[in-house]
Amino acid sequence: MPGHPSVAPAVVPVFASDTHRRHAPEREIESSAFQVPYEHPGRADAIRAALASSPAFDVREPPQSSRAGMGDGVAATHVAAQLGSRCFETTTPLTEGTFAAARSAVDCALAAAAAVEAGAPVAYGLCRPPGHHATESLYGGYCFFNNAAIVANHLVAATGTRVAVLDVDYHHGNGTQQIFYERADVAVVSLHGDPARAYPYHTGYADETGAGKGSGMTHNVPLPAGIDDDAYLVALDSALTVVAAHDPSIVVVSLGVDTFVDDPMCDLALTTDGMRRCGARVASLGLPLVVVQEGGYADSSLGSNVRSWLLGAASRFDSHQRSPSPRG
Ligand SMILES: [Zn+2]
Repeated sequence: MPGHPSVAPAVVPVFASDTHRRHAPEREIESSAFQVPYEHPGRADAIRAALASSPAFDVREPPQSSRAGMGDGVAATHVAAQLGSRCFETTTPLTEGTFAAARSAVDCALAAAAAVEAGAPVAYGLCRPPGHHATESLYGGYCFFNNAAIVANHLVAATGTRVAVLDVDYHHGNGTQQIFYERADVAVVSLHGDPARAYPYHTGYADETGAGKGSGMTHNVPLPAGIDDDAYLVALDSALTVVAAHDPSIVVVSLGVDTFVDDPMCDLALTTDGMRRCGARVASLGLPLVVVQEGGYADSSLGSNVRSWLLGAASRFDSHQRSPSPRG
């Protein structure tokens, strides 16, 4: 339920771990050439600094989750064979510290979910590496464990209710879609650059709507190049109508800010203030939000873009609201 404008906005719990720095590849391969990675530790450090400088956020270390078996079970022994059985493309660097970093991202996501379960109307997991391209068994697209999907799966099990994932990253969240494609308990709604021109190219088209028990639970909104704040908000509003129609108890937001006008990888034209408007619009659903970080590569604006989105969301909840009312 949106808060009264005269009441102070809720302080947003933020979960961040410096363990992400253990995933620090020196180079990545793009178009058959080495380049400095777009996805690097400075991203999460910039977001953390931007949030820590504002009293609107309470930055905490996440507790370590108890999924110790994650990553076990590869049968092949040669490293090349193991890689081939675990990744869907070759541009995502894997390093000695990647597992620890990816685990810490899951911890951040699950801690944000726990904060919402405990009554916070909105909480944020500063997940790095990101997650939404990771499928049930394959890494790729800078993603290793699907933080948003792990949270959604946890919330369904913990609450016995339906959950929605709203993915606003520029790129289609192929992993999240794959994981829930045949499930009736998690709706997946994604806005992204049209895969006819944008990574991951093979998924994210409007005619992918789920299968089996999950028929009608997947909704893709491919976007044209160059759209600005106003045009994006029109698309977001229609996506939010779809989210609401599924009547979820909680919304997991895959927050990519690579929709930003100056993002070096992408071709939409959102502004920092547009991010605020998007956050406010999503929060106006009146549902608790577990927000997890996905992409965003415009380094100098990354922190302010994430902060703007979260402040927009928090502005819809007041500081006395321990447990948001059901959507009404
Ligand atoms: Zn992205």
